[in-house]
Amino acid sequence: MQNLIFKNIFSIPIITGFFLISAINLSAQSNLINRIEQQKKDSVARNQLEKSVERYQDRDNKKDTLDEDFDDDLMESHPADDLYNSIWTRERLNPYQTPPSALPDSIYIDCSEFAFPLSETSINSRFGPRWHRMHYGTDLKLQVGDSVRAVFSGKVRIVDYEPHGYGNYIVIRHNNGLESVYGHLSRVLVTENQEIKAGELIAYGGSTGRSTGPHLHLEFRYMGNAFDTEHLVNYANRLILDDILLITKDKMFRYQVQAKNIGSQPRSKYYTVRRGDTISKIAARNGVSVRTITKLNKISATAKLKTGQRLKIR
Ligand SMILES: [Zn+2]
Repeated sequence: MQNLIFKNIFSIPIITGFFLISAINLSAQSNLINRIEQQKKDSVARNQLEKSVERYQDRDNKKDTLDEDFDDDLMESHPADDLYNSIWTRERLNPYQTPPSALPDSIYIDCSEFAFPLSETSINSRFGPRWHRMHYGTDLKLQVGDSVRAVFSGKVRIVDYEPHGYGNYIVIRHNNGLESVYGHLSRVLVTENQEIKAGELIAYGGSTGRSTGPHLHLEFRYMGNAFDTEHLVNYANRLILDDILLITKDKMFRYQVQAKNIGSQPRSKYYTVRRGDTISKIAARNGVSVRTITKLNKISATAKLKTGQRLKIR
């Protein structure tokens, strides 16, 4: 009898434990399945991308005979749908996680329907590193309330407000595979998922968000990677440089290496000593060597630390 009660008491936690472990296993499994699914999708997207580039390159090789066929193909294939593999979310500006290294060496984009977004054409600030940060767009002068127009046809993916960044902004996915971003707007006239024609009025310009005066921040992106709008637009005559934009990752995304260097420029970092800390503990916790700490603070490795003392660790 005693033995039976003893058994029963012990079987409860064992059964509960069993269910808990099964539940944990199930959730780990579903995570794994999700990840595998995502990897499959990514590789399908990459294959489609490579195929579409091959098609474009084929056209160049057999230009005389295949031009007409190619144009039909381009109209029907909707490259943007193929490329982005039905990733359509308003949550992030770059949800694609496709670094330039994963892109083909050269990509051709049909830009023939380009429309200049503003009535003014002066550049306030160019694409490139600025004040230890990367400036991913071209700033164009405007007056508050000026019309802002879509550069190509497509569909509005994001309408949002970022008080410390773009202010009121719009992101459009274009049918040609590019995405464009319009920042610091005073008023947005479109809604998410709305289809847009090239040259269509989408917003009024302004100075919302982090902005020192009225301007349009215009960005072009390919698979989430921003590139200089001046690779495509000739601001002197408000036209595109060429009907077909050739995206070469070496040329257009090389800045990302430079941008990383800007981001990693050493800045001083301090640590406040807690009770029981030793130099080696602090070093381990902050991922630096003991020597770095002793050198930066001109102390010996056996120095006694006081609680609340500030140590330079970088
Ligand atoms: Zn800007």
